[in-house]
Amino acid sequence: MTFRLRIAISACLLGQPVRYDGADKRQAWLEHIQNVDWISICPEVEAGMSVPREKIQVELAEGEFKLMAIESRRDWSEAMDDVANHWILQLQKRQVSGYVFKSRSPSCGLQGVPLYASDGSLVERQAQGRFAQRVGEYLPDLPLIEETQMGIEGPRNEFFIRAQQFHRQCHFD
Ligand code: SF4
Repeated sequence: MTFRLRIAISACLLGQPVRYDGADKRQAWLEHIQNVDWISICPEVEAGMSVPREKIQVELAEGEFKLMAIESRRDWSEAMDDVANHWILQLQKRQVSGYVFKSRSPSCGLQGVPLYASDGSLVERQAQGRFAQRVGEYLPDLPLIEETQMGIEGPRNEFFIRAQQFHRQCHFD
C-alpha cells in the first residue's frame, strides 16, 4: 500500500472496552495492518447507552424493525438513526474508504443478526444491525466487512484492494 487509508471500525474491535458487559473484542489481525488510520466508532455509546448496559436486540413489531432494550423495553431506534445519520455524513467528509463492523451485533452486524418478535421469540437469524444497515443503505459503494472475515488473509487482502480502489475513485487526499 503506497498511501494511508482511513478505515472506520467498531470501537470494541480496536480494543475499547465499550461492549454491553464492559469488555472489548480486540482483534489479533490488527497487528498485521500498516498504513491505516482507524476511525473508532461505537454507535451504542454515541446513542447514549452506558457501559456496562443492558442488552439490546433487533425486534420486528407491527411490521417495523426496532432496536429495543430487552428488559426495560426502551426503544433506541430513533437515537441510533441519529447516530447513523451523523456518521454517514462524517464518513464522507473524513474521506473514509472502508468500514470493519463487529459481527452479530444488533447495531454493528452486517448480516446474521438475530431478529426477535416482541414476545421474545426468534423470527430469523439473517437481520442486520440497525446502524450498519443504514450505513450500507446510504453509502452503497463503501467497502464493508465484518471482523470474522478480516481474520482470514484472503478476504482481508481483498477488502483492502477494494478500499484502495474506493480511495482512488473518490480522489481522496
Ligand atoms: S459491536 Fe458496535 S455497538 Fe457493540 S460495543 Fe462494539 S462498537 Fe459498540
